[in-house]
Amino acid sequence: MGKKQLTLVERWELDIKAYEKGVNVKTSTPQCKKCRYFIKKNALHCDIYINEKKPRDVMFCHKECLSFNSNNILDIGVLNEYDNRLYGGIFGFCIGDMLGVPVEFSTREERDNDEVKELRAYGTYHQPFGAWSDDTSMMLCLIDAFNYGFSMDKLAENFVSYYKDGKFTPNGVMFDIGISTQNAIEKIIHGIEPVKCGGSSEMDNGNGSLMRILPLAYLENKYDEEQIVKLVENVSSITHSHDRSKLACILYVELASQLIQGKEKLEAYEETIELIRKKCNEVYSNEFKNFEKILNKNVINFRREEIKSTGYVIDTLEAVLWLFFNKNSYEEMVLGAVNLGGDTDTIAAIVGGLSGIYYGFNSIPDRWVQNVERKKEIMEMISCFFKIIND
Ligand SMILES: [Mg+2]
Repeated sequence: MGKKQLTLVERWELDIKAYEKGVNVKTSTPQCKKCRYFIKKNALHCDIYINEKKPRDVMFCHKECLSFNSNNILDIGVLNEYDNRLYGGIFGFCIGDMLGVPVEFSTREERDNDEVKELRAYGTYHQPFGAWSDDTSMMLCLIDAFNYGFSMDKLAENFVSYYKDGKFTPNGVMFDIGISTQNAIEKIIHGIEPVKCGGSSEMDNGNGSLMRILPLAYLENKYDEEQIVKLVENVSSITHSHDRSKLACILYVELASQLIQGKEKLEAYEETIELIRKKCNEVYSNEFKNFEKILNKNVINFRREEIKSTGYVIDTLEAVLWLFFNKNSYEEMVLGAVNLGGDTDTIAAIVGGLSGIYYGFNSIPDRWVQNVERKKEIMEMISCFFKIIND
């Protein structure tokens, strides 16, 4: 039995206890007794905060950040077209995640009443500006594994370091993890072979492997198509080994890879569908019915009300494709994702990856880039990764 995932309220209670013990983390919130009571009761809808005295630098769910001053400006320099797609994809992913974190789990109605138009802080996880979540952490685990001569064991070891020691996190503390992922990492710790750790039941089809798979789209110079598909299947299987999750990962990696090659949106999508229908027919044909709206392209013509933005892998992928074909800039796509509510950070991250590749790094607002926690380390990791995969 894996550990039970903590509810939001339980996490806030732990958080409050940590503050009482004087824990040294960069999150801060006024903790008057009155407010604590309300946080415990209702973390996402604390009316008390609205009129409560609070430090000037602390912003809450309903507030927008007005200034984006950063003391250590990251200058990536002039990028050629290819690098623009590479840095665009990874940073685009991370920034989508960062924009979604403060409002994860909020409802569509809440977002419609209080649209996110800018980077926010605090909110759901109580994290300061620039914090990204498990999506980016686990993607960085994958990049790091490649930087150290890829093996499944190295990747598994990175997941454990993330889970136990807060490595690959924005502020040294792991503040969120999906239940399937947590169960799988517990199995790794107990010595089970990594590819056998992922849940394989129909219930294990959250978007937990889709949300970290993007780096594999950059491997076209190093591996052939068949090898990449195999790699995608293995990397997904560490935490999510049901065919639905694996096929979702294959589809996303292929689409991203087509965009990296410079294809137009629709052309990339159509080529992806063709590949799935041809190459994945033997192993995955039973799953095709679940991907029907994606494989027949109907999803791009849906109305917003028909898009479910949950953590179920099919809902997530449909939301991502709908955003990618119905919005016209990086900014529109990631904010559009966040304002669907639900699994805001993951959907914004996944569409942010595609969008960052397609429109390029230079299309991402610099005020967001400069707010990414540990941006310099991320840039160095990406640079190293790109050297290795293009060697
Ligand atoms: Mg997340």
